[in-house]
Amino acid sequence: MAGRLLSIGECMVELSQAGEGLLRKGFAGDTLNTAWYARACFPSDWSIDYFTAVGDDPMSSEMLAMMDGAGIGTSQILRIAGKTPGLYLITLKDGERTFSYWRDTAAAKKLADDADHLRAAIDSAQIIYFSGITLGILAPEAVDTLLAEARRAKASGKTVVFDPNIRPRLWPNKNYMLKTIEDGARASTLVLPSFDDEAVHFGDKDVAATIARYKALGVENVVVKDGPGGVTLAFGSAPVVHVPSVKVDKVVDTTSAGDSFNGGFLASLAKGCTPAEAAAYGAAVASTVICHHGALISPDLLPK
Ligand code: ADP
Repeated sequence: MAGRLLSIGECMVELSQAGEGLLRKGFAGDTLNTAWYARACFPSDWSIDYFTAVGDDPMSSEMLAMMDGAGIGTSQILRIAGKTPGLYLITLKDGERTFSYWRDTAAAKKLADDADHLRAAIDSAQIIYFSGITLGILAPEAVDTLLAEARRAKASGKTVVFDPNIRPRLWPNKNYMLKTIEDGARASTLVLPSFDDEAVHFGDKDVAATIARYKALGVENVVVKDGPGGVTLAFGSAPVVHVPSVKVDKVVDTTSAGDSFNGGFLASLAKGCTPAEAAAYGAAVASTVICHHGALISPDLLPK
């Protein structure tokens, strides 16, 4: 069945070192990364659309051109006069990556300010995807708008997918962060947390605790990613299933491991695979992505 996935969030300009005094420009962001891998893995009769707000500057235009070039729909993206995208810089020191951000005035913070526009975009899709980073960049009123629309989508029978992607530096305080992540989960039909984050911020002692916590919030389907430890699926009332990760000889760059897993996993589900089959495919996609540099690798490199 053909359909549309709408991924909602922030895409930033990425600057990374490219030799003495030189910076390389790219575009990335968790929800855009997932849209990229969804586009690569979903059947071609599905549309994969991105929803955000950008400015009317040349960098925003380049960002949209990059998405268009990748086959990601941009027609619902808001353009706000006088605004610019957020930006981050990756610096390498002794092999360790440090990230510096300039995103406080990013256009994407306004993505939910026009509730009618957001609703129309959500109405046009069967699968809605957003993350804790999407919520973390928004003002509290905008969080309320987005979550109200997500709940409305869920109530109307759409698949609403949430990756908590917990990033404390985006949030004013821990209580509000955890409460809002829980609200995001409650508004969703499928939650895709990473155990590392959940253990640090919610204090979960094991994967079973993460599953139990989200199930207790009323989330129907929970898939916990645990790096090389594989994924654990709790779908509806079916027995919990563990799917191992794909062994990798040498991890090159784990950026986008979880985002690419999500894209491959959702694509397989849309093709009618079982959750366990979909998780095995998501793990194969992620294991390929972490063998290459950068968040976005060529679709040609991905497993079929
Ligand atoms: P995130 O990037 O969100 O922190 P994880 O680290 O849990 O997410 O990784 C997501 C998925 O990527 C895992 O479920 C697994 O399939 C794959 N993965 C991550 N690290 C490894 C690894 N070292 N070896 C093999 N697969 C991995």
